[in-house]
Amino acid sequence: MRVLVAEDEAALRRQVVDALAGDGYAVDDAADGDRAEFLGATETYDAVVLDLGLPMRDGLSVLRAWRAAGIATPILILSARGAWHERVEGIDAGADDYLPKPFRIEELLARVRALIRRSSGRATPEMRCGPVVLDTRSGRVTVGGAPVTLTAHEYRVLAYLMHHSGRVVSRGELTEHVYAQDLDRDSNTIEVFVARLRKKLGAGSIATVRGLGYRMEPRA
Ligand code: CA
Repeated sequence: MRVLVAEDEAALRRQVVDALAGDGYAVDDAADGDRAEFLGATETYDAVVLDLGLPMRDGLSVLRAWRAAGIATPILILSARGAWHERVEGIDAGADDYLPKPFRIEELLARVRALIRRSSGRATPEMRCGPVVLDTRSGRVTVGGAPVTLTAHEYRVLAYLMHHSGRVVSRGELTEHVYAQDLDRDSNTIEVFVARLRKKLGAGSIATVRGLGYRMEPRA
């Protein structure tokens, strides 16, 4: 899963980026509205954390531009305390949720989890594909109840496949959602991650659909 954080206050931006990265997300960040608008329009994200008070271009106008361009990514807006009218405008412009400042970082993480969960049509934070269970709250993965240790990249590949279980996910799509923008991307390494995941989770856990990509079954 990959998230964009648009926030101009450097200390807060760093805190949010670090917390999301610590929860297993690939994270890109933007310090102004122009950069945010550009990244959101050209890169692929599973969720966006968007501060409304941004320099160059305010968050509301960035949000409107994305929605006008048909970008449907779930968006959590951040606003100054007491600015209720901004939040109403934001929600009317297509934001999915909001968080007034100051907030606890745990609440932001829970809201991002919920946004991603709802966008894939799931009602609970636990995902299950046969014996493989991934708890998005703790980041814990178990197979038949036994805990499995994954690297950050393996976790992201697995979380994306499980979020989209029941359909084929191409290597290119996985590449887009597993790496942050500034990292060297190589879709061949996706194969390596999938091979390692099969070793850890069981050979039949991830099916290869020849020429198309990979698929996990919600009930296998
Ligand atoms: Ca701000």
